[in-house]
Amino acid sequence: MISAKQWNPSDFVGGRDCLDFANTVDWTGSPTPNDVLQEYRDLLGWCAAAGLIRSGQAKTLRRLARAEPEAATQVLRRARELRRALRGLFVSWADGESPRKADLDGLNDLLARAPARLSVRWRKGDYDWARPEHRSLEMLLWPVTWSAADLLTHGDPVRLKRCADDGCSWFFYDASRNRSRRWCSMSTCGNRAKAQRHYQRTKVTRTRV
Ligand SMILES: [Zn+2]
Repeated sequence: MISAKQWNPSDFVGGRDCLDFANTVDWTGSPTPNDVLQEYRDLLGWCAAAGLIRSGQAKTLRRLARAEPEAATQVLRRARELRRALRGLFVSWADGESPRKADLDGLNDLLARAPARLSVRWRKGDYDWARPEHRSLEMLLWPVTWSAADLLTHGDPVRLKRCADDGCSWFFYDASRNRSRRWCSMSTCGNRAKAQRHYQRTKVTRTRV
């Protein structure tokens, strides 16, 4: 097993790799946020579950991380810094504001450390960037930085939203035709809101009676 944390499809509802990555800290609107990236292997597990690395690469990196624990911890620290920068960039972009220099620098510093994407491939009926063959602990962060750069340069800020549940506040890219999506997921926050509305309605009805 790669990671102690089990990842579910409900952890990947952002619609973009960089948004799912930004959502690896839960309940940022609450007094007790929950950071699911506690160790390098958590980052590794997340990337494997997100399909950003192959299982062979994951095994290699897991071995590397065991052999170089300090380097792995440093990559985890960079991952958290990147996540903080991305969250700042996404909030300001969605709000139509200029980014903070520190946030943009945070993304660009890591983009500069990532190798160039030099070839496009045809895979499973779609085009994507061919991932360079590397063995670096930091390679886990590259697809996230590329995804963020692609989103910021080609995406529509009006479609970048945060879950309407104030405590959750997960990011997602609203690809619906009329931009009507409100929740990170209907099966979690959407359902909770529906149950609350139902409770409030029955309470009002009971009070009236
Ligand atoms: Zn939510």
